[in-house]
Parts: sequence; C-alpha cells; structure tokens
Amino acid sequence: MLRHKTEKRPEYVYAIDEWRMIERQFYPRWLAASETIFATANGYLGMRGNFEEGSPVFQSGTYVNGFYESWPITYGEEAYGFAKTGQTMLNVTDSKLIKLYVDDEPFYLPSANLLKFERVLDMRAGTLDREVLWETPAGKQVTIKSRRLVSLQQRHLAAISYEVTILNAEAPITISSEMLNDNKGSGNGGDPRRPRGITHRALSPRAHYADDMRVLLSHVTRNSKMTLACGIEHTLDTTCAYTHKSDCAEDSGNVVFTVDAKPGEPVRLVKYMTYHTSNTASAAELRSLAQRALERAVEHGFDELLSGQRDYLDDFWRTSNVEFRGDPAVAQAIHFNLFQICQATARSEGTGVPAKGLTGPGYEGHYFWDTEIYLLPFLIHTAPRIAKNLLTFRYDMLNKARLRASEVNQKGALFPWRTINGEEASAYYAAGTAQYHINADIAYALKKYVDVTGDEEFLRERGAEILVETARLWADLGFYSKHKDGKFCIHGVTGPDEYNTVVNNNTYTNLMARENLRYAASTVNMLQAEHPRRFEMLVDRTGLETFEIEQWQKAADSMCIPYHEQAGIHLQDDGFLDREVWDFDGTPEHKYPLLLHYHPLVIYRHQVIKQADVVLAMVLLGDEFSMEQKKRNFDYYDPLTTGDSSLSACIQAIAAAELGYSEKARQYAIYAALMDLADFGGNVQDGCHIASMGGTWMVIVYGLAGMRDYDGQLSFRPRWRERVGGVRFPLTVRGQLLELDIDAEKQTVTYLLKEGSGLAVRHYDDEIELVAGRPMTRPLKSPEN
Ligand code: BGC
Repeated sequence: MLRHKTEKRPEYVYAIDEWRMIERQFYPRWLAASETIFATANGYLGMRGNFEEGSPVFQSGTYVNGFYESWPITYGEEAYGFAKTGQTMLNVTDSKLIKLYVDDEPFYLPSANLLKFERVLDMRAGTLDREVLWETPAGKQVTIKSRRLVSLQQRHLAAISYEVTILNAEAPITISSEMLNDNKGSGNGGDPRRPRGITHRALSPRAHYADDMRVLLSHVTRNSKMTLACGIEHTLDTTCAYTHKSDCAEDSGNVVFTVDAKPGEPVRLVKYMTYHTSNTASAAELRSLAQRALERAVEHGFDELLSGQRDYLDDFWRTSNVEFRGDPAVAQAIHFNLFQICQATARSEGTGVPAKGLTGPGYEGHYFWDTEIYLLPFLIHTAPRIAKNLLTFRYDMLNKARLRASEVNQKGALFPWRTINGEEASAYYAAGTAQYHINADIAYALKKYVDVTGDEEFLRERGAEILVETARLWADLGFYSKHKDGKFCIHGVTGPDEYNTVVNNNTYTNLMARENLRYAASTVNMLQAEHPRRFEMLVDRTGLETFEIEQWQKAADSMCIPYHEQAGIHLQDDGFLDREVWDFDGTPEHKYPLLLHYHPLVIYRHQVIKQADVVLAMVLLGDEFSMEQKKRNFDYYDPLTTGDSSLSACIQAIAAAELGYSEKARQYAIYAALMDLADFGGNVQDGCHIASMGGTWMVIVYGLAGMRDYDGQLSFRPRWRERVGGVRFPLTVRGQLLELDIDAEKQTVTYLLKEGSGLAVRHYDDEIELVAGRPMTRPLKSPEN
C-alpha cells in the first residue's frame, strides 16, 4: 500500500518532452535534486549535474566506478566474522569547473540578472546543455552556451564546450578552466542510505604537471592503494585576441584564458577531461595513458565525440526504447529511467553497478542484489553484452565469496551483501550479511541470462562454478528438521524485506535457494553427460564430489516452503504471523520511512514490511504459485508493505497487474516510474534509484505486456485497461530482435520479428510462430480475461 506522499509531480520543474529533461528557470530550491537528475555518466565515469562555475552547489560529484577507499570498520561491540573493511566510492578530482568573469565580474547564477536560462538533458544526443543570457551590472549582455558529455564510446573521456558571446559591447573576459581535488568527508546525518563519509584524507597527491593548455594531477588512495590520473586539455576558438597561462599545485590546476571579447564574436572553449584508475599500474603509467587520451581527443575534436555519442545512443534506443503512447509525462519518465540505466551500465566493464549508478554518493557506490534482480532482466533482453560483463564480474568475485563463506563458518561461497571490491562491506549483519538470498539472486540472473541468450558457453565456462559454490552453501546452511516433518529448513537469514530480520524459513529465500540447487544439479549433470572435459575442469576447480549433486537434489525436493493452511497464505517466514500487526492508523505520514524514526527492534517485532518479499517471489517464480495463492498472498501482504524501499513499488505493480487490480497497478507503476523525477523517496539528492529504474522497465514488460520467460519460453498476456494509447518495445532473444506493439485503440497486439530466423511466442494461450519481417497481429483481451 502506498504510504508515502504521491501528489508531487515533476511538472513543477521539468517541462514535458519525451526525449529531453528541460529546466526553464534556475530553481535554487531544486538544486540538490537537479544535480542528480542532470548527471552524465557512462558506467565508468560519472559527473553530477553541477554547474560548471562550481557554485551554487549542493554536492559536487565526480565518480569513477569501483574507485574506492577502504577503512577499518570499528564496532562498539565486535563479534566473530563481522565484516572488517568498509569501502567508499570516492569523489575524485573535479575537472568540470569553468569560471567566467566579464569585466572582472564573476558569473554567479543566484545573483546574476538572467534574461534567459535553460538546461536540457538530451537523452538521444547524450549531452547536458545549458543556455544562459546574462546581463551584467554594467548592462552587457552575454550568452553562455555549454554542452557537456561523458563519452559512451570512449570510456575514459568527458568533454565540455563552453561558448561565451558578448552581444552588445566589448569587454575583457576571463575564462578559468580548473580542476580541484577536494576530498572531504561529510557524514550521513544518521541516515544509513547516505554515504558515511571518509574521515581521513583518502587521496594523497603523487604528481602534478601543467604545460600550455594541459594540466595533469595524479593521486593514490591511502588504504586501498589505488591510483588515479586525471587530466584536462583545451582548445580555444575565437577571432578575438587572447592569452592563456596554466598553473598547478598538488590538488588543483587551472588554465586561464584572457580574451578581448568583441560584440557578437563567440569565444568557444572546448575542455577535454580524462580519468584513468588502476589498482596495479603506477601513477606514472596512468599519467602517460591520460596524456595520450588527451592528445587523441584534441586530434579528433568535440564534434566527433558528439556524433559518437549519438551513434551509441541510436543503437541503445534501437534495442531498448519503450515507446509509451498516451501520456507524454509517463513517456518522458520511462525514457529518463532507461537513459539513466544506460548511463549507469554502458561501460561498467570489470565492475558492478552502484545502487545509485554514478549520479551521487548514496549507498557509498556499493553493488547490491539490485543488479541481478532489478537490472539484469532489462539488460539480458536488450544488451546481453553488458549483462554478460556484469555476471563475469560476479564470477571474478568468486574467490572472495569462498573466503567469506569460510569466515561465516560455511562451505561453498557467500557473495557479499554490499561491496565494491568483492569483500563484505556491510557492518550491520541483520540487514546485510544475513541476506544470503544474494547467492540465489545471482544464480537466478545467471539462469535467465543463459535461457534468454542461449549462451551455454558462459554457463559451462563460468556459470557452473558459481552454481556449484552457491549450491554448496545452501546445502551446508540448511538442515532437515524433525519438527517440520524432515523438511529442509534454512534458519537465521534475512529475506528481501529488511524489516523482518534473521528469521527462519523465509519463503523468498527458500524458493530461490531451491531454484539455485536445482539449476546447479542439472547443470553439473549436463556437463558430466555432454561435456566430460569441462566437467573434469569443474571438478578440478571446485573439488566437486558426486554425492553433492544428490545432496542438492534432495535438499531442493525437501525444501520447507512455509504455508499457513487456515489463512491460505505463504508465510513470509515461520514466525511472521506471531508478530503484532503494525499500527498503521496511528503512524503519521511524516514517520515514513520507518527506519529513520523507530529503533530496529520495534520494527522487527511487528508485521510491517519494507519491500516486496513474498510478492517478489510471486513475480520472479510465478509458476510456483496458483492464481488463488497469489491473490491471497497479495491481499495479505500488500497492506503491510510500506514501500520504504524504492525496490518495492515496481514489484507490487507487476503483481497487482497480474491479479487484475488495475488501479492499484497503475498507482504503483506511476510511483516507480516517477521515483526520482518526483522525488518520492525524498533522497534523490544522493543519487538515482537505479533498481527502481530497471523495475520500471519490468512493470512495462512483465506487468503491462504480461511477459513470462520461464526457462526461456516467451509468453505474453498483455493487459491494458484504457481504450487509448499503447506501448511498443523491442526484446532481444537468442540474438533475434522481437518487437511488441500493444495498440489500445485498435485493441490489438502486434508481434514483429525484426531480425532473426524464427521465434515461437505465446499470446495468451495461443502459440505464434514468427518469421522475420512478417508482423502477426492478434486481439488484445480485456484484463478480466
Ligand atoms: C533495500 C535493499 C537494496 C538497497 C540498495 C535498501 O533500502 O532495502 O534491498 O538493495 O537499498 O538499493
């Protein structure tokens, strides 16, 4: 049930345009949020939407995915096996600063007389543009046009074009292009979702260098020993006379241009920025990489970067666009969500995806299950290459996960609940390490990836090893309980819902673990029968013994799935119904999210849910539940669900849609789609909610189009209540490009195989054989059917 404010609408700030986020005024009140909304990133490098002038600013942010500082976690009361090392993604050298002075008068947005202001995030061009007409106190009118991009094609590169024209007079202007390493921690003010902040100076200067229009700074992190080189280079294009000089110190650098500006003569500065990071290369090596990157950038020029950006995005939208007809505000929100996923994942090679992407410091840049359960469904169906990279990254973490399992006295591997470098970084085990379901979430995503892409090679080479080690953990963690008719029980874990922790037999965990065990057993059996050499290699790497496969099968077949016969519902966990129901009527709206207003123990002893748990199991493993069970479960758990986590609304929307609760589904869907634009969570200032963005895509595809892809078999049960609008989207399935078009006006659904040789899909209960280029149109049934 939606217990948060929902009346805020983004139109207050952003003009409606399907492909652009537009701000037509400078809104100091929305500064913090807009820094997140207007962030530009490519999955490796991210820059918050801070103004080039450096102020006003809520938090200036430049992030490199996976570039972090570690620090010892200090516990008041320590216990065996607690996570030891915290990790925090660092706010690195800020290179996007460009300060402007006209007649020595600084351009400062809050006090400037602005005759025009417009800021646009263009989601097809991949640029952040700003156009300002400023009248100086001396009456000189100055246009300032800036265009910023973080290159999707060139992972290490960003650029800004900053063009100044004085319209009605002559004036000396100074453009100071700067870089600054100002790595101060700030604390989280008691909100666990905010970054904790590093208390020491994390980045030590290694070298600095300035020459002509170029400046380079390099730093090393104190504890994690990672190196960073950041460089800037410029070109200035003008018919006006100018001079320039550069300077630098350990933590800062600048190139200052002084121009005798003439009326109507543009002065165009292009600034190239490059970032290189490593945990093995020396600062000197990275510096030369940065030098070369800058030389290449100047040689190719800004326009080439722009066209490369457009090419990348043309391709992204070709395989990912959701065209939503009927409500342009929703269409814009969907594009924004997908665009931010692109920015969070495009070049995330060798890393995971932080919960906030690279748009802000929230959750310290950590990777969670958000990636596997909320993002991978989208990526698997639109960008399998990226999905594979992310799964490969999990595979690369396997050794650390093995170590972690042994630290918590278990066999196999236990993936960290939150991490950057593969080690567990959660200092609160009840809502952290205890979420063992992360293992099964990874196995679930792996299966979906293999089923949908057909990439069996990945399964044989890497996936199988993940499956063996995760299955081992479940087999070791659970036990056969005499009190539960010999059922295989898993105790002392936390499911997705972080408001009920360290529980016995969490339904979600047990169902997902069962899948994990079964998939591990079938994969190993398949290898043994069909790929004996691979099987031997697997045995070599894991020490697998044949009795283990039987063990997994037996545990899966005897898995305890707690069900309450009288109530006719699945229990979220064994003890769920024994808790007192939360006093929702007595809880005013300002007390949400509960985690910021109540001691955890108070929350834990009540029936109150932070985020979809049983309902999530019903969405992910829908074929394990009958429709009646789904309905009873939803009716019971939905009113108890606060949605205090942004991961909830999208899932509740999909479940509600399946059950025919159309109005509820619509409300949840809007809430998920506008999570950041309307700032429903109240914390968009710290970054976008990337999981909810992936969840929004799931709402369209699994909710509205009713797609199910159990074992790679595609079926659709489209549901559309209104008689207007429609939705069209592509899906990549086994290398083939399918397009689905639901037309509410014509009451039809059209399936078109745009690329590929042939694909079978199910439309409600009918099989359709698709061949390339031949659209097949079928009737849309009303949701009641
Ligand atoms: C949610 C987790 C999620 C994390 C990061 C928390 O509020 O409860 O499920 O993984 O945020 O998005």
